[in-house]
Formats: sequence, structure tokens, C-alpha cells
Amino acid sequence: MTKLNISSKVKDRRLSVTSREVTRSVSSVANKNFSKSEINTLNNSGGIRIVVRKVQQGHLARYNGIVKGKHCFTLDPSAISDEETITHEIVHALQETDKTRPVLDRKLSASRMLSNTELSKKEALTEAETIARVQKANLNATQYYDDINDQCKRGKNKHCATPRTMKKEDRKRLTDNTDRPQGKRSVTKAHKKFPKLNISKYTEE
Ligand SMILES: [Zn+2]
Repeated sequence: MTKLNISSKVKDRRLSVTSREVTRSVSSVANKNFSKSEINTLNNSGGIRIVVRKVQQGHLARYNGIVKGKHCFTLDPSAISDEETITHEIVHALQETDKTRPVLDRKLSASRMLSNTELSKKEALTEAETIARVQKANLNATQYYDDINDQCKRGKNKHCATPRTMKKEDRKRLTDNTDRPQGKRSVTKAHKKFPKLNISKYTEE
């Protein structure tokens, strides 16, 4: 079996989680939601290094780009077994390194300074791909959709869909209800369906 090369470190000693548990959890998500060739691509670009520590308020994780030859993530202690968060960050790593992905990825690379519009598009596309890839979309974790809903309400719109409904609709559109796209297919699917997805309305503030 192709195994994702992961090293992890728990930065805060007060946390009860061990780096071994973190590695196991991330490895299991990688195996479930990514293809062998994607895992190989990540390994060929140095693998993944995870640091577990509190991430800034309102965030569960952060992709920090390639540092000392490895893809570096910061993962909040509350997210170490969160399938969607881990999938989202692995997608960011692939955007950075997988040359078979859409050219847009390179334009929106972490190593460049991005405008707010570019950053919003990148996050929304990453989220779309994540929702397509996961085993089951978590309708109780709707962070991006909460923001869309807030902005809709601030626009004095009386008919704003709930975050849960928007996420559920997007999952349906991305998986055609039953057919969960895997590996490269989830990339194509997310990019193709993007203009029709609720997540496309997301804007960073
Ligand atoms: Zn992100």
C-alpha cells in the first residue's frame, strides 16, 4: 500500500493527544480520500509535516506551504480527527505541487501574494473539492457557508438559504447524489460545477 509520508509534532505539552495519534488520523484520511498517485505526488515533494497547536480564532488548520522540503500544516487540537479539515489541507498541498492539476492552481499558489478575490476563489474551490471527496459531508460544520449566509443577511435579503441547506445542495451537485468522485475526478468535478455551487459566493473578509 502507498503510505503518505507524515511526521507530526504536538507543540503544547498540556494537550493529551500524541503525535502518533495525529499521524494515524491524517494517514487514514489520506488513504480514504486521495488516490495512490496523489499520495505518491505528495511523497515525492517531501511528504507532510504537521504541528498541532491552537490555530488563530475561528480556524481549525492552516497550510503553511513547503518549509524545509515538506508540506507544513498547523492543525488545531480540536481538529485532529476532523476528516473535512484534514482533506481540505491535503488538497492545498496538492494544489502546490501536483502538476497534473488545473493551471489555475499555480496561479493561486500559496507562494504568491494573492488578492482577496483570488484568495476567496482558492478557498471556495478547495472547499468544493473537499466536499466532493469526503465520505460523508458534515452538515454541522458549515464555517464557509455561515459567512455566505451572514453576507446575504447583511445585504437585507429576506430569502437567504441556511448554511446547512447550501452545503447539502453542493454535496448533492458534486456527487450526483450517489457517485462520490475520487482522486483526479473530484478536481475536475469541483472546477466544472463551481459556477453553479453555493460555495462560489464565498468571499474572504
Ligand atoms: Zn484553506
